[in-house]
Parts: sequence; C-alpha cells; structure tokens
Amino acid sequence: MKTTREKAVPGWLGAVLILGTFGALVWLENRRPLRRRTIESKLRRNLRNLAVATIGAISLQLAEKPLVRPLARLVEQRRLGLLKQIALPAWLEIPLAVALLDYTLYLWHVLTHRVPFLWRFHQAHHVDLEMDASTALRFHFGELLISVPWRALQILTIGVCPLALSIWQNALLIEIMFHHSNVELSPENERRLAKFIVTPRLHGIHHSIVEDEVNSNWSSGLTIWDWLHRTLRVDVPQDAITIGVPAFLHPTEVELPEVLEMPFVRQREPRFLPPREKRAL
Ligand SMILES: [Zn+2]
Repeated sequence: MKTTREKAVPGWLGAVLILGTFGALVWLENRRPLRRRTIESKLRRNLRNLAVATIGAISLQLAEKPLVRPLARLVEQRRLGLLKQIALPAWLEIPLAVALLDYTLYLWHVLTHRVPFLWRFHQAHHVDLEMDASTALRFHFGELLISVPWRALQILTIGVCPLALSIWQNALLIEIMFHHSNVELSPENERRLAKFIVTPRLHGIHHSIVEDEVNSNWSSGLTIWDWLHRTLRVDVPQDAITIGVPAFLHPTEVELPEVLEMPFVRQREPRFLPPREKRAL
C-alpha cells in the first residue's frame, strides 16, 4: 500500500488538465489577443512549435522519466534531502517541496541565460517571434536533456517525494502555458494575479529583445522569487516590446531546421539590444 507521499497525480487527470488548459487558452487567444502584431501565420508557428515540443517530449520520456520518478521514490524511502531531515507533516512538506522546486527552477532559468553553453539551447525557445501557449512547449530537446541532471539535483537536495514532484510537474506545465499565452486579461485582474503567479504580460517582458527586459521576470511559477531578487518588472507595455532575439528577427531564420541546429552552429551577435535609455543617447 502506497503512502500519500508515494502517490502521484493520475496520468489521466494530468492529461485532462493540460490538454483542457491548452484548448481553453487557444480559444481565448482567438477571442482576446494580448499582442496583435502578426509576423507569421499562427497555424505555421503552432505546427513548428508542436514539432519542437514532440521531439522534446520524446527526449523527456526516454531520459527524464526513467530517472526522476525512481529517484523521488528513493528520496522517500531513504529519507534523503533537506525536507526529509526535518520530519514535517505531509500537508506542509508537499507545498514546501513544490515551492523549493519552483525556486530552484528560477535559478536554472537564470543559468540558461548567463552560461553561454546553456544559452545556445535556451535561445531556441526565445527566438519565437511571437508568443502564445504553443511557445510554452517549444524547448529544444538539448535543453530538456541538459536539465535532467539539474532536476535530479533538485529532487535529491530538496528531498522531493513522488507526490510533490508530480504536483509540481503538472502545475508547472499549466502555468507556463498560461504565462506564454497571448491572452488579454483586464489590467486589474492581471495585477492581482501577478502578486502570486507569473502572468502573460510579465513573461512577455522576459521575451523582449532588450537586454534589461529579458534579464527580468525569470520566475516560472510564483512571482515571489523575482520580487525577492529584485528582478520583477512590470513597467514595459506589451505594445513597446519586440519579442525574439535581435540576431533572428526574420521568419526564415527561425524555421524548424534552423531552430533544431541552433545550439550546434556558430552563435550570432547581438544577443540582446542595450537598455532603451542608453540607446536613445
Ligand atoms: Zn528565458
């Protein structure tokens, strides 16, 4: 008999929530788009993003799934990691594990921008010229594979049980689809929501071609990490933002083969444009 901590969110429930969220966001994107600039046909972009996502999903099935779930079971059985040392009740331990997974993903995201080798892979996500729910799924398979040892380290050091891991994985996917989506919320509602979680306008600023804007809003789930690190930015209107990477602003430069080979070819400059005030001088 499995204990609460050894259980996982049922696969069917995760699939219903994830597919339901994706469908609802695509529907809302058509009804209430946040950014109206269109550079490519949405269908063409979405199909490309789904192709990148499919390769990524296969990579994760092969490389991550066989490792991280057994690792979380081992953490639970042998009481490994920080949270397992301070025997807490499940109702406290599980939210804490989810929050710490979210914080360590914030750190990983910063590394994918700061370490040139990691940026080669993360760049493939940022070169999308527009952003919608499908952008949330287009991570280069190389980035996903490189993140597997980081994931293992997160589980081992935090002491993440299987239930916390599966809650975080499902919640993260739903949240990243939401904050990449091109859905317009009313400014008041978005402001209220942004006190707790990353919203489409916040993450839109992170996808800007301008350096100090991309170096903000690193959180993937809770906004508290950006708030604590003073990297939260809310002051850039969406219509002032150009989404992408300056060296790849033409649709022919971000076709599927270009995206897939991006980490393995000579890197282009500039990575980002200088802050707006300095450019104006
Ligand atoms: Zn990023």
